[in-house]
Amino acid sequence: MTAERTCPSARAAPGNTLLAIRGPDGRMKPLRTPMRIDAGFIEEAEKHGSPEARMRFAAPCATSGCSQWTGSRCGVIDKVMDFLEAEQVPLRADLPPCAIRSTCRWYDQSGAAACKGCELVTTDMRAPAPA
Ligand code: SF4
Repeated sequence: MTAERTCPSARAAPGNTLLAIRGPDGRMKPLRTPMRIDAGFIEEAEKHGSPEARMRFAAPCATSGCSQWTGSRCGVIDKVMDFLEAEQVPLRADLPPCAIRSTCRWYDQSGAAACKGCELVTTDMRAPAPA
């Protein structure tokens, strides 16, 4: 049986965890202590646009219950890494601090390489983040 993994790019939903907040440089800054969110938090956050355009949330990986699941893995981080490599985006050299690394789906699949591109991932690319 596969150990339960954590999705590091989940929706803002009650019970999920606030993992990181987008900084002025456009990169996601991890919270030292992730915070469980509730409906009140989401209501406030939505007043300023899509929460997923400027924050990252974690939740249990839904595997086959998620449209990004390929049947054996999460397709998101594979696409992200392919894109970053194709565009030759400069990545950080060190491993960023992360509160969910021990259960992270992306780290489980791709190791430290996933972490080096992780801060560049915005969950909701449809909505422009407010300046
Ligand atoms: S990919 Fe790495 S940095 Fe990103 S959430 Fe997973 S363990 Fe943390």
